[in-house]
Amino acid sequence: MEQSGRNACFNSIKASDTRILKSINLVAVLTALREIGPASRADISRITKLTPATVSNIISLLISQGIAEEVGYGESSGGRPPVMIEFNPKAFYLAGVDLGATKIIAVVTDLEGNIITRTRMELNVNEGRESVMSNLFHVTETTLEQAVDTRSKIVGLGLSVPGLIDAELGISVFAPNIPGWRNIPLVKVFQDEFHIPCKVENDARAMAIGEAMFGAGRGYANILCVNVGRGIGAGIIINGEIYRGKQGGAGELGHITIDPNGPVCPCGNHGCLEVMAAGPAIARSAVEAVKTGKSTLIHDLVGGNTEDITAEVVSLAAKKGDVVAESLIREAGRRLGIGIANAVNMLSPEIVIIGGGVSRAGDVFFEEIRDTVKKRAFTAMVNLPPIVASTQGEEASSVGAAALVLEEMLAVGNISHLMPFHLNYPFSAPASKPRTK
Ligand SMILES: [Zn+2]
Repeated sequence: MEQSGRNACFNSIKASDTRILKSINLVAVLTALREIGPASRADISRITKLTPATVSNIISLLISQGIAEEVGYGESSGGRPPVMIEFNPKAFYLAGVDLGATKIIAVVTDLEGNIITRTRMELNVNEGRESVMSNLFHVTETTLEQAVDTRSKIVGLGLSVPGLIDAELGISVFAPNIPGWRNIPLVKVFQDEFHIPCKVENDARAMAIGEAMFGAGRGYANILCVNVGRGIGAGIIINGEIYRGKQGGAGELGHITIDPNGPVCPCGNHGCLEVMAAGPAIARSAVEAVKTGKSTLIHDLVGGNTEDITAEVVSLAAKKGDVVAESLIREAGRRLGIGIANAVNMLSPEIVIIGGGVSRAGDVFFEEIRDTVKKRAFTAMVNLPPIVASTQGEEASSVGAAALVLEEMLAVGNISHLMPFHLNYPFSAPASKPRTK
């Protein structure tokens, strides 16, 4: 475990900082328990390369906090059968809220990302910023109320928001699809309202963190997670850490150029991936096809009203075997494949995970993406990463938002402070603040 991506970064830490060393050991034991449990103390000692005494101390601490449990005896290898230890995902709970362009989804999950309660609300972002904020509060409050049995054990709330985020300051800087949405101090307003620690992250990055912790990315240290809905964004995990880039600007896969002579993107450039392969692009191509009189089921599904054509309608028609719809989905898949091939050339991820509304367009969409990446990614000859759908479906970003809380809990430096496990641990505590052991 010490060599895993997350911990490898800390090899250079001075041994004098015992608090951080204890955190590293604690994270290693917790990670091992989560990944392989139930396990004996000896198993964990072998996997983490920590001494049996250290493992024993940490396990005692975890058991006293309810995070680990003894669950009977394992196979004897000659002597006394070992006591088996298991991670307890119900020790604490996480809340996550996803603000999308057309909906808000809020969840409460356990420490394995299993959804305990969920609320979904349709949203009209054109009603403006005040309305969006009050809807966000309403959905969050409803979800926390539904989780009444677990509310006292909810250790934090994560927010997933489109656009540019300053994760450190907890500010939603700019969301292109929400009119008037600029510099909203989301973490502060949510903490003031709900009195629990909050985190905010860009939706694609929240999705990536959720997939890494609970979903298709589990066990991988290098992940490219692509969110394809009304827009296209990517969450990048490198050596077990989310990569944000300067001022959180990394992962704007939707604005790489696919065709320099292509249509104008809202960002001002021509032929961005987003304006050629996201949901609105698929809908726009379908409207053209219907208007030019092509015989297609899309026409019938919307009763001839072209303004009702969405990417969902197109994928429904494609799944019913409509040839025109299928070719539109394939075209979007091919274009997305070009974008992903470019990203694969740059990052060489171990796995590519695709989520968001358009990712549910069906097998032909994924076939086309995989074919295109295989043809165009340089490293595909030796190492073609698997390209898979998000396992979390529509909840990928809300569960990812909840995962932000767990990620912060498990961050080295936080966890030893957290260990008395009072529920008031600070997120990203200022350096000047004295920490108690
Ligand atoms: Zn653009």
